Amino acid sequence: MSDRKPAEWPANIRPEKTQDWDAFKESDTEAGIQVNDDFERFEQRNDMFCRSQWDEKIATKAAMEFWRGHRKPNFRKGDGFRQRDFALRNASWVMASSIMERGFSEGIREGFTDDIKQFHPPDSNKVKIESVEDMTREIKQVAKYFGADLVGITEYDERWVYTSKFNVRTKEESPVALPEGLTSVIMVGHAMEYDIIKSMPSALASTAVGKGYSTEAAIVMHIAQYIRNLGYEAVGSMNDTSLTIPQAIKAGLGEYGRHNMLITRDFGPRVRISKIFTDMPLYHDKPIKFGVTEFCEECRRCYEACPVDAITGGPPTNSGHNKSNVDGVEKWTTNCEKCFGYWTALRTDCAICMRVCPYNKNFSKWYMRAARWLAGTALRKLMLWLDIRLGYGERDMPQKWWSGDYQKLK
Ligand code: SF4
Ligand code: SF4
Repeated sequence: MSDRKPAEWPANIRPEKTQDWDAFKESDTEAGIQVNDDFERFEQRNDMFCRSQWDEKIATKAAMEFWRGHRKPNFRKGDGFRQRDFALRNASWVMASSIMERGFSEGIREGFTDDIKQFHPPDSNKVKIESVEDMTREIKQVAKYFGADLVGITEYDERWVYTSKFNVRTKEESPVALPEGLTSVIMVGHAMEYDIIKSMPSALASTAVGKGYSTEAAIVMHIAQYIRNLGYEAVGSMNDTSLTIPQAIKAGLGEYGRHNMLITRDFGPRVRISKIFTDMPLYHDKPIKFGVTEFCEECRRCYEACPVDAITGGPPTNSGHNKSNVDGVEKWTTNCEKCFGYWTALRTDCAICMRVCPYNKNFSKWYMRAARWLAGTALRKLMLWLDIRLGYGERDMPQKWWSGDYQKLK
């Protein structure tokens, strides 16, 4: 336990600005992102997972049990929390954990606090790009080929890059060392299965999260290596290095929801997001709008369903609840301390807010696409009423998944 004591933090020296932040105002407006004058870049050590390593308030006994549960199945009695549920969840993490833990002795957690190390550096022969349009299409095709469900490209914007990164072993900070000359960020979305998420919260349903991370680790490494093989810089990244949601919105992957998640057209909030920073010349996508903001203004399902009142039912605000929130951006902000406290009590992640969200649907069905269309019109209240009336968002018992009922329905 000694290495979990709060560290004496060195003064955090904020990196110099290397970009003109005012130049992003136009694209911010287009994306519906309002960044105010008091905005400051986020320090990675303040995210909840890092705080659980150094902040006494967060590094509770329950938090330690939560982390230990990832190493050995944690036994509880309820459906969805038995040994087989934790065994499946932990098995789903194997690929992501194998990448994450290879630098563990040095306190490096690739994909979580540190970017993913390159396998081979950029080829010395840089291919000449005759058409940026063709190259952009090609990169998206390659990303899809490797398994990406969604791909969009946005400008490199240092405002979202963390001021420093956190070392889990030394509890110290170090600079985020990205290559110079980056111009673009390729944002990649990875869908999680609808059926299993219906039993959130449970260790069983968290399998979708672990599987998502394991899948995205492989996909992001493939894409980054392809770009490096063409002679360009490419840094693969998951939760590390920068905030993802503002970049995903700007890259046209979806809109921002009251529950602080990205809501995509094709998978709703049921996506994980990874990214590749690159200097390859690429065109940037435009943000998309399909009525989420207006729908969230009417809907409060996530707010009402959250067991610890972590989600706001009010309007967007400029400042958050605590140091784990980003200040200076006008948005709905979740109280991450309350949320993470509930995760640690469960010994696994929660995502009730994802389950109940009316955008959490199987959009391969035509009537779900019709419901999404309705949600984007002036009849959104009708869609919300129908959604509740028809029982969408209710929890399925984990046993239903184990019994193979979903497979029988396919
Ligand atoms: S994950 Fe659970 S605890 Fe956290 S905000 Fe969502 S509903 Fe609340
Ligand atoms: S549950 Fe409702 S309010 Fe919450 S994010 Fe989804 S649509 Fe928005």
